[in-house]
Amino acid sequence: MATLSTNTNASGAPSGCGPRPKPQPLQTSSGSSVSANTHLATDQGGVSKDHSLRDLEKNVCKLRALLVEDDAADVELMLQALRKGGFEVNGDIARTSEEFTDRVRRNSYDVVLADYKLPNWNGMESVETMRREGLDIPVILVTGSLGEHTAVDCIKQGAADYVLKDNLSRLPESVRRAIRENKLREEHKQSQEDLARSCQDLEQFAYIASHDLQEPLRMVAAYTQLLAERYRGKLDADADKYIQYAVDGALRMQTLVQDLLAFSRVGQQGLDIQNTKSNLAVETAVKNLYATIHESGALVTHDCLPVVYANAPQLVQVFQNLIANAIKFRGAEPIAIHVSACKSGKEWVFSVTDNGIGIAPEHAEIIFVTFKRLHTHAEYPGNGIGLAICKKIIERRGGKIWVESQPGQGSTFKFTFPVVELKGELRPPR
Ligand code: ADP
Repeated sequence: MATLSTNTNASGAPSGCGPRPKPQPLQTSSGSSVSANTHLATDQGGVSKDHSLRDLEKNVCKLRALLVEDDAADVELMLQALRKGGFEVNGDIARTSEEFTDRVRRNSYDVVLADYKLPNWNGMESVETMRREGLDIPVILVTGSLGEHTAVDCIKQGAADYVLKDNLSRLPESVRRAIRENKLREEHKQSQEDLARSCQDLEQFAYIASHDLQEPLRMVAAYTQLLAERYRGKLDADADKYIQYAVDGALRMQTLVQDLLAFSRVGQQGLDIQNTKSNLAVETAVKNLYATIHESGALVTHDCLPVVYANAPQLVQVFQNLIANAIKFRGAEPIAIHVSACKSGKEWVFSVTDNGIGIAPEHAEIIFVTFKRLHTHAEYPGNGIGLAICKKIIERRGGKIWVESQPGQGSTFKFTFPVVELKGELRPPR
């Protein structure tokens, strides 16, 4: 492994900030020498991750680079181009795959500048190595020639950019852009993680709150009902009315808390996920809804449905919520509900179709939001949690749910599940 080393400019100021020192010869450990005032050095592991996007825009910044290059003259040219572009470079050179792996394990870099074709390996292997090592450092291919197809392929496979050696004036801008994109990617990843963490905290909070609220609420509901029974007609008319309001409120709050608990449980349960027959899930949902189906005279039919990778009780719950809604939001016709599924690429698309009141397209998204409803409680009972639960269950399995509907023309709720690859036994990957 070649480690190039020289002094940084004495002031320690970025090269773009003041007068540049004259290029000094740099000595590689293998004896080859290149010339640059740039500091390419050491195993110190020190990093220039501290440069901010603002520094990048200002064109002055320290750069810790790993150069995958076996030609000292090319190294020098790259360094000169970077220096001209306002970088103070500090870093290492790797000539073999082993050196490369060792370097990225021990040090931290802002960018990798890799020759596409070296005698024993190729620059794209550095992208693979980084992926294997779980690192996210942009790799720019710096190469003598690269056909357009190869260039597109390399970028598809993860290279940040490519710069031709006879056009090295492009290098600083390419580096700047790669670092900027990398930084934005990191920030995005960080905010995604923060969001996931706060969602988890919120879910945990909702679970604990709804769980612990149940007991005091049960007391309030029980005693207000007792009050209503014992003192109805014994106080004045206003008192009867107020007690009844309190009873209704307590009972309603109880169902809200139970629904909230059911919603947060979707994320809390350590789920048993396995190949699940959707036919059976629909039939279980129909059995659970026996009384409602019987009273309403609904006709529920289904096609032959596929096996999906799911938690069986939750899949039952999805069908049950959708079928119960199809009955609740019935139209004037006798209720007819049909469940079907068709394959679309790598997904199964399930449909639950009804001939009910339908939904205006502008409400097609809001109905999946927790506690959102289109009707008053007096028109249709419910808390607006059923579809939110379906959405949560389905999205946790990598699917999506939506509705296709028009007012007065029935609704079709559709949701997807990834197709399970069945090899002999029903055994998809975990
Ligand atoms: P809830 O049924 O308690 O209101 P949901 O989350 O299950 O809560 O449904 C949200 C809203 O979506 C319902 O209030 C209703 O307006 C609408 N909706 C759901 N399913 C249907 C359906 N099959 N037909 C018409 N409207 C529906």
